[in-house]
Amino acid sequence: MNQVRVRFAPSPTGYLHVGGARTAIFNWLFARKHGGVFVLRIEDTDRERSSEEMIRYILDGLAWLGVDWDEGPIFQGARAETHRAYAHLLLEKGAAYRCFCTAGEAETLRARALEEKSHGAVRCGCRDLDAKEAERRSAAEPFALRFRTPADEEIAFEDGVYGSTSKRGADIEDFVLLRSDGSPTYHLSVVVDDAEMGITHVIRGQDHLSNTPKQILLYRAMGYEVPFFAHLPLLLAPNKGKLSKRKHGEIVSLTTYRDRGFLPEAFLNFLALLGWSPGDDREKLSRKELIRAFELAGVNKSNAIFNFREGDERAWTDPKALALNAEYINDLSPEALAKTAKPFLERAGLWRPEYEEGRADWFRRTAVLLRDRFQTLQDFAGRGRPWFTDDFPMEESAVRKNLEKNADALRGLLPEFAERLEGVEPFDAATVEGVSRAFWEEKGLKPGLVMNACRAAITGASAGPSMFEVFETIGRERSVRRIRKAAAAL
Ligand code: GLU
Repeated sequence: MNQVRVRFAPSPTGYLHVGGARTAIFNWLFARKHGGVFVLRIEDTDRERSSEEMIRYILDGLAWLGVDWDEGPIFQGARAETHRAYAHLLLEKGAAYRCFCTAGEAETLRARALEEKSHGAVRCGCRDLDAKEAERRSAAEPFALRFRTPADEEIAFEDGVYGSTSKRGADIEDFVLLRSDGSPTYHLSVVVDDAEMGITHVIRGQDHLSNTPKQILLYRAMGYEVPFFAHLPLLLAPNKGKLSKRKHGEIVSLTTYRDRGFLPEAFLNFLALLGWSPGDDREKLSRKELIRAFELAGVNKSNAIFNFREGDERAWTDPKALALNAEYINDLSPEALAKTAKPFLERAGLWRPEYEEGRADWFRRTAVLLRDRFQTLQDFAGRGRPWFTDDFPMEESAVRKNLEKNADALRGLLPEFAERLEGVEPFDAATVEGVSRAFWEEKGLKPGLVMNACRAAITGASAGPSMFEVFETIGRERSVRRIRKAAAAL
């Protein structure tokens, strides 16, 4: 086999969609697996809808995932002259013709084609105009260049995912190559670019499967070898509808996952398993393992569902993604964890330089303690907030259940316990545990009463890490102060 050359060819008309990112990942895995070349081509031909900002999102998003490209970014819009040249070449060869139909006439033809679907494509009279006559008219009249679809050809191909597919030329319209303003169409640009860039495998979304016969015709007419096509199942919303930015908001944009505290390895792993499986039951695969295991044969035909529950913050995106992310967060070394936590604390205004200098040990220890229950790195500034500031929210249910319900007993017990804590030396988890046990045994209390009250007072929550670790990491002074404050409020 020649060297594998694949490409990711996004149109920068919106944020980088998770489905697009998944297409990029599959191409990249395929290239890396086969020692091939991964080309990034930005299809910015729709100038009105493309923007610099959207291009940035694509480049930043791929860089964040670690999906690195070997060539590009190549901007398709800058290649329009080349695309036009090919269209004219096809005209010279007779494989294309000038069409003088107005937009209205073309529309009427299209409507008729829809009506007469079973009778094949409808072609306009311009197809049969005498070449000399057409050239003469072209000096004065606007025209489009259309492809002269051979009605008697059968276009058959073996899709890498969807298998044998074929279409009769008679059913394919004479599609436009150059519009009357001279701008090249998608079909022309994509085939010229893929052909000139030597793309051997076109791996892209299933929504392009129906475009493939037209594109194969163009390869043939231009005398290029037809690449291998593999179309990928779509990513759908839980109701099996389209997963769209307009309907589903930020969860469809790749950069949301970066900004909301995903580790790139975790999200790469999650996306890779949407519509593809390694053929065994592994669900957690490193970058290297993904590259080793990736085969187009493992891609499913059925569309993949992106599961999430709208309005549920704990399931704001697919719970599988969140669970994988939690696992990857748990795998980080304390040093790496501290590093990744920093920007999330910074953004929340909770970062202090001492976490890297004087209190680096404390910070690492705290980060390791907290991460156990985290879904994303953003939880450092959310559930982790009480460790970094006194200004944290109190969960209503924790206050009710763990403080207010036992107000009569706690009003006296909490200040007494706080006083005990003041004398604990050293103030570490083991010593605090000993003193706490002695306290509740001496008073004949159930252990939960004081500990749950302390948890609510110190962290505002009803669940979290071991309370003795909480005492140690929050520290004596803050623990005592918060317990007294909660007691005073009862
Ligand atoms: N630019 C096209 C898109 O974003 C992709 C074209 C292709 O992969 O052939 O849908």
